[in-house]
Amino acid sequence: MQAVNPPTSLPPASTWAPRPDLALAERLFEVLRQTGHDGVGITRDTYGPGEQRAHALATETARALDLEVRTDAALNLYLTLPGRNRNAPAVFTGSHLDSVPRGGNYDGAAGVVAGLAVLAGWRQAGAIPDCDVTVMGVRAEESAWFPVSYIGSKAAFGLLPAEALQARRFDTQRTLADHIQSCGGQPDRIVQGPAALDASRIAAFFELHIEQGPVLLDGGFEVGVVSGICGSLRYRQARVLGEYAHSGATPRSHRHDAVVAAAELVCTLQREWADMERQGHELTLTFGQFGTDGQQADFSKVSGQVDFCIDIRSRSLDSLHDMDLRVQRTAEAIGQRLGVRFDLGPSSGSQPAAMDDTLRDRLRHAARQSGAAVRDMPSGAGHDSALFANQGVPSAMLFVRNAHGSHNPHEAMAAADFAAATRVLGQAMAETAGLQRAAGLETQP
Ligand SMILES: [Zn+2]
Repeated sequence: MQAVNPPTSLPPASTWAPRPDLALAERLFEVLRQTGHDGVGITRDTYGPGEQRAHALATETARALDLEVRTDAALNLYLTLPGRNRNAPAVFTGSHLDSVPRGGNYDGAAGVVAGLAVLAGWRQAGAIPDCDVTVMGVRAEESAWFPVSYIGSKAAFGLLPAEALQARRFDTQRTLADHIQSCGGQPDRIVQGPAALDASRIAAFFELHIEQGPVLLDGGFEVGVVSGICGSLRYRQARVLGEYAHSGATPRSHRHDAVVAAAELVCTLQREWADMERQGHELTLTFGQFGTDGQQADFSKVSGQVDFCIDIRSRSLDSLHDMDLRVQRTAEAIGQRLGVRFDLGPSSGSQPAAMDDTLRDRLRHAARQSGAAVRDMPSGAGHDSALFANQGVPSAMLFVRNAHGSHNPHEAMAAADFAAATRVLGQAMAETAGLQRAAGLETQP
């Protein structure tokens, strides 16, 4: 470990935060890139060799920094710098280390690398927090591999349903339980408990993550403080059933046209969406799949069936419910008028999550102090922070400017933006964890 001379004039302890070790971060990104490259992009497969390699790298780095290393039954990774008071609720930071197939190097990994860079800086400066500070490498966040959301963080809180362990990975067709076991985890203990994490023992969860859209880049901001994480409500197997009939021989009054009904539903709900926006709601409504039955539909037939999906997203549960009611009411009314039947099928979704105001203030303040251009913004995509927040852990997210979105090989985060964001993260963590210089270096009474 490198010794660092204390600066001659010391700012107040509450605002003091050592520089993150950005050279370490650069090395980690490089190793992650080399070991994760699949010929096209980066693949760190969930509970497979890719994610395993990333976890091994984080473990090895933590050992070199003399951090405590622990895993739970689901193999989430906890890398802890012990605090002065080991009974005080801990400060957490981290993100996931898996990626989608042929994804990019930064989605997820940036949050773990940033946490390690911050703690490396603290170690080098001899800084000791009041409470434990843990960098968490969360397992299995990308639902591209298994059709289950937030596998790692749910497992950590004892929330993973037993049946989820029977879900199969899309490429291997092996179960989640089998994959966890072969990586060295204990699937039985995930459901039988006890849970690895207790929300009341966590003072804060910070997640640094690349932005997955163009907002920061377009606006000239280096970092974004997330105001809230959208929840979703989905009908993945909706359909409308009418009656197939001859296109020439069936008069308008005798038709039960599924295409007309589905089209009316789409158009009416666009107006309802606009109406809700005028009332101050923030949400999105998407019909991502929409089509007649290729086997039965024909250019000379009135269509008897249209299958479609609805995806509603919002930071507000009220807005999700309000739009859901409008969907059901509109479908009912169109069904009666046109003599067709809407069958929306089962709904699924996730809870929206509010981010903690105090932690958001701290991130914003740290950004302004360091001269980074910052803005508030919602997250349309889901993150582990949503799960932490909904368990009652004060949580906050910091987005880093990034070009070309994510989930593709072209995601592009500039090293300077990562450096700026990691300094902001380190500052906010230092304030939250009551970071102080080791004995002998203190200036406070
Ligand atoms: Zn991610």
